[in-house]
Amino acid sequence: MGLKIVAFFVILAITRVKSVIKPDGSFESKPETKAVVDKILKNSPIIDGHNDLATNFRVLAQNDLSKVDFSSDLTKHPWWYTHENAETHTDLVRMKASGYGGQFWAVFTECTTQMKDSVEQTLETIDFLKRLVRKYPEHLHWATSSKDIEEALKLGKIASLMGVEGGHSIQSNYGILRMLYELGARYLTLTHTCNTPWADGSPSDQDNPSSPNFLLREHNGLTTWGLGLIDELNRIGMMVDLSHTSEKTMLQAIKRSKAPIIFSHSGARAVYGHHRNVPDDVLELVKSTGSIVMLNYYSAYLKKDHNNTTIADVIAHAEHIKKIAGVDCMGLGGDFDGVEILPKDLEHPGKVRNLLEALYETGTWTEEDLEKLTSKNIRRVFAKVEEVRDSLKGEEPKQDALPVPQYADTDRITDKIVTMVTENLQLGCKGSVVRGGTSPQVNTTTGRSGVWPSWGSDGTSSLPPQCAKCGSTRDCSCS
Ligand SMILES: [Zn+2]
Ligand SMILES: [Zn+2]
Repeated sequence: MGLKIVAFFVILAITRVKSVIKPDGSFESKPETKAVVDKILKNSPIIDGHNDLATNFRVLAQNDLSKVDFSSDLTKHPWWYTHENAETHTDLVRMKASGYGGQFWAVFTECTTQMKDSVEQTLETIDFLKRLVRKYPEHLHWATSSKDIEEALKLGKIASLMGVEGGHSIQSNYGILRMLYELGARYLTLTHTCNTPWADGSPSDQDNPSSPNFLLREHNGLTTWGLGLIDELNRIGMMVDLSHTSEKTMLQAIKRSKAPIIFSHSGARAVYGHHRNVPDDVLELVKSTGSIVMLNYYSAYLKKDHNNTTIADVIAHAEHIKKIAGVDCMGLGGDFDGVEILPKDLEHPGKVRNLLEALYETGTWTEEDLEKLTSKNIRRVFAKVEEVRDSLKGEEPKQDALPVPQYADTDRITDKIVTMVTENLQLGCKGSVVRGGTSPQVNTTTGRSGVWPSWGSDGTSSLPPQCAKCGSTRDCSCS
């Protein structure tokens, strides 16, 4: 095709998207579109990949379900919705308004809990989610398998699944991973905004050390133990989630995994070059492995001018992923309750049907395409992960632990980190050490050190982390 013809079709596609969004950025569908989307949602209800409601319950309500009635319209709650720290979007009323049939509830602990109380917090959140589902049995249905999802859909309830967001929740321990599976967790996001001792997080894809959350590239992707973790996730039947990981981690994990992987909440890096989005070379692998990218709605990942985002910005990411990975490799992962800013007319789960209506009105998405997007694809991926697990039945559980010293006394966390930093210093490049001192700096309040550098924000150092071997502030390959 000639360049002029290609340009014509690109402009046509952009015009189509723009024409469905009003000049003020709002969206209102045609009446006939509503009927089509009702049918789509009946055939294939939304199963969303990522929601941080549990974190809000921890922070705002101390995990106390008596403080907030999740079955009510929470925009009318006296403080839940208007709390100064509130980034709350989800309740059963709004989920039902968009025909939700399933939700992966995120089990998230901050990176500051790494090597500290991440496992404790993870367990508390799992307990919270189990109590939530038990409290609303007429609306929510606990799900840990494809069969459970289908059952929930048949009953007209919301299949409630769990995904653990951040590899630091397993403390580099296969035993903990397997117990999280036993408790019902069905995906593990390999990293959050910190590196783990075996994987690099996405902030390490940034080139400028003064970028927010900048991380050193410590492992150049996954370590040998990290690769073994992919095998173990395949063996037990837990999905590998690559949202939040670095590009190298993504590539190595997809190539290693015997089952399709997921991105529970991400967009396209070619549309907006944020490190949380998926680069094209990875999207090609998503396609060839039948994996899935579940679209994120967080304005900060959609475009640079994130104060003025609309549904058209989400559509731009959707169109690109569709172009490279194909419509069979897409889903929805809104990130509600975990973000502070969302596109106009997509501010909460009740408005997700706007996105479906807008996609339909562009004329480039068929009913069949949209049914794949809402849940058919994620159900296929989940079933495939179970199939791979069943095919690996004969394999033994992994037992090799990372060589982390164990301490019984109350100072064990600090001791552990100091020992690791010292060991890493001897190894030269393995650990990155915070610049500015002759001995490794450990923040005893947060327990964080240069091993997993996050500088500036938690008081460890006002200067970027630096490799111990060559002084690089970019990566630890020292090349
Ligand atoms: Zn989250
Ligand atoms: Zn996230």
